[in-house]
Amino acid sequence: MKIVDIRATTVAVPLEAPLRHSNGAHWGRFIRTIVEVEADNGLIGLGEMGGGGESAESAFRALMPYLKDHDPFQLESLRFKIANPTASLYNNRTQLLAAIEFACVDLIGQHLGVPASDLLGGRVRDAVPFASYLFFRYAAPGHAEIRTPDQLVAHTAELKAAHGFSVHKLKGGVFPPDYELECYRALAEAFPDDRLRYDPNAVLSVGEGLRFGRAIEGLNNDYLEDPVWGLEGLRAVREQVRVPLATNTVVVNFEQLASNVLRRAADVVLLDTTFWGGIRPCVKAAGVCETFQIGVAVHSSGELGIQLATMLHLGAVLPNLTYSADAHYHQLRDDVIDGGKMAYSEGAIAVPDGPGLGVRLDRERVAEYAELYREMGGYPYDRDPGRPGWYATVPNARFADPTVSSVEAAP
Ligand SMILES: [Mg+2]
Repeated sequence: MKIVDIRATTVAVPLEAPLRHSNGAHWGRFIRTIVEVEADNGLIGLGEMGGGGESAESAFRALMPYLKDHDPFQLESLRFKIANPTASLYNNRTQLLAAIEFACVDLIGQHLGVPASDLLGGRVRDAVPFASYLFFRYAAPGHAEIRTPDQLVAHTAELKAAHGFSVHKLKGGVFPPDYELECYRALAEAFPDDRLRYDPNAVLSVGEGLRFGRAIEGLNNDYLEDPVWGLEGLRAVREQVRVPLATNTVVVNFEQLASNVLRRAADVVLLDTTFWGGIRPCVKAAGVCETFQIGVAVHSSGELGIQLATMLHLGAVLPNLTYSADAHYHQLRDDVIDGGKMAYSEGAIAVPDGPGLGVRLDRERVAEYAELYREMGGYPYDRDPGRPGWYATVPNARFADPTVSSVEAAP
């Protein structure tokens, strides 16, 4: 098999409502670039990358001279062809590599007639459990604002009833820590049998991180995720708080994983198939974590069905995946894959059974959301539509005012 063409299409897929986070917001849609890698046997492998537009589409086109006639089975040489670690000092292509790796794994699986999970070591589970992933959000047509503890608890109850979640992750870093602590405690009180995790995207100072961590010590926590920035910051919090710490920000490659092995800062590493440069690096990293008894979870950087499929095949093959995975997926209104959005059942999503990644494109949906991207364009992830002129610092002290009811955010 040889690669004969690479095509990339940026799409905008609507979210139920704009989601707030420590750096700003997802302004009511996800921008993703769909990658199609065509082989000489007519098969098309699918990949996906966050962000997009002309620069992303042309970045994938620019890989053609590197990858024309490359055999998709040659995944290790693929890595060095486009993301050699020293060459990458000049052209960081990790996320491009990830999308191409997804597509090559998809091609191999289709060629052999086996699901990607069979190529990655074989399944130890047929469905991957997910956490609810709760956001403070602006109101949008048909979807109410989420700002107060009561609104958050009501929203969580709805998600639990609809999808069966028994683990809830609160994305914080929006409002002052004491206010978000009140929200977290409200969740603990409302769902005493469920497990919780809190992730303020590393915006707390070490002092605030310690205060927050100590305050939740008696609750049913999975872990405290990136309370503060950096391996040293996490280490400082970890030394004084009796809650496991997790990160998806500062252990995203093997150098950082080695540091975390030698001097533990995070107890749990959230593996992201894009950040790590593919599905296979995540499997390798999980092996290191297994050896050193570091927990693993599956990170979500905002996915459509192709990326979700990579997360599901990854989750299927990791024996040491003892935590529910994260996904923004339930916040989406639609998907670009055949059949529309995958369904949750009892808080889990079934690992696709078809060959390769097991998802195929719905061409009409791709065209519809490519058109929506052309109409609406991207959005600044690190700006808040409700707070003009504001930007975040790390650590942050200029939090949003929780007493101000938010207006409908303009997309
Ligand atoms: Mg996180």
